[in-house]
Amino acid sequence: MAVFVLDQQKTPLMPCSEKRARLLLERGRAVVVRLHPFTIRLKDRIGGETQPLHLSLDPGSKTTGIALARNLERIDLETVRERLTARRAFRRRRRSKNLRHRAPRCHNRTKPQGWLAPSLRHRLDTTLNWVNRLQRLAPITSLRQELVRFDTQALQNPEISGVEYQQGELAGYEAREYLLEKWHRTCAYCGATQVPLEIEHIQPKSRGGSDRVSNLTLACRTCNQRKGRQPIEDFLSNQPERLRRLQSQAKAPLRDAAAVNATRWALFERLKATGLPVSTGSGGQTKYNRQRLGIPKTHALDAACVGPLTALHRWNIPTLTLQATGRGRYQRTRLNRFGFPRGYLMREKRVHGFQTGDRVIAEMPTGKNAGIHVGRVAVRASGRFNIQTATNLVQGISHRHCRVVQRADGYGYSFTPIQTEEARQVG
Ligand SMILES: [Zn+2]
Repeated sequence: MAVFVLDQQKTPLMPCSEKRARLLLERGRAVVVRLHPFTIRLKDRIGGETQPLHLSLDPGSKTTGIALARNLERIDLETVRERLTARRAFRRRRRSKNLRHRAPRCHNRTKPQGWLAPSLRHRLDTTLNWVNRLQRLAPITSLRQELVRFDTQALQNPEISGVEYQQGELAGYEAREYLLEKWHRTCAYCGATQVPLEIEHIQPKSRGGSDRVSNLTLACRTCNQRKGRQPIEDFLSNQPERLRRLQSQAKAPLRDAAAVNATRWALFERLKATGLPVSTGSGGQTKYNRQRLGIPKTHALDAACVGPLTALHRWNIPTLTLQATGRGRYQRTRLNRFGFPRGYLMREKRVHGFQTGDRVIAEMPTGKNAGIHVGRVAVRASGRFNIQTATNLVQGISHRHCRVVQRADGYGYSFTPIQTEEARQVG
């Protein structure tokens, strides 16, 4: 994996190889600035030649792929959607709970233009945060983004606005992509994956079924032919559970994809505001590049395949996964399994100068945990910490043996190697 390089005055230079970085550090010509992403600073140089470096983004609903390319440096970005969902559930409970009267707060019911739900805004902020951070680490000259997967106009609310599949805007390719996403690329009747899927009317047209997207699903060839013109209730009469699920899923609008598209446009606007040239690509183009060049599907590699592309070299390098972990919780207590409060969580974030999320190195001279442990620390008021290493959780390490190597910054970092056909065969 490439190493970010800064000059004496912290101006980004071209990233270098690990080998070169090691040499520079050994000779004392450079110092380590941060471990993740690994960055060094040259002590004896100001300025240097740089070449064009493109940052490409593939925004997804849970993971955003980021790739930095001339020689590829790949970074995966995960966001904390799950936790926000939990927080929203807490808020919901408040509304129905029998609490003392609270006067209505005024001016909180209209939403300004371009307003995004907190979970989506978070996704946008996190992505931009990393674009800014990477701009401080590498001399990025242009940005590239996968902007559309389907036709966004048609996606506004295809189920409700009744856009029709054959004559509406959501024709052909877009409808297919939309349905693939909505039905998770599986046959709705037998659950088969990795098979060619056909567009299928849930209520057959011969029985008055419409062409609306809410009446369409995907089925494998066998199921499609077996169903024929039967009404859905008859076809699935011996699978009531699947029938119920299918009917509710047919009505539910595609939340994730709609969310992705709303944030994608918002991201595009914000990227343009950085002042760097921004080019865009479509989902179809990304898929085409990936398949033509024989590149496996990961978020980061998808990002690298965004836009017009003739060749991609050295893509088979580990990916750095950045997971937004936050800087703490709002909860002041934990719940037992019946939902009652259990104990109190400590208010102080720091214990003996350490904070949960710091990366530490602990050298244990003796005892059952003897050895060197490097990882993310979870502090305890007692001063005996837990360290989550790459492989396991080491418990009860005294703060006296710990040393901070990188302060918590709200992100967790891990490496994912790429599994290719050759790698699998060799391994
Ligand atoms: Zn099937």
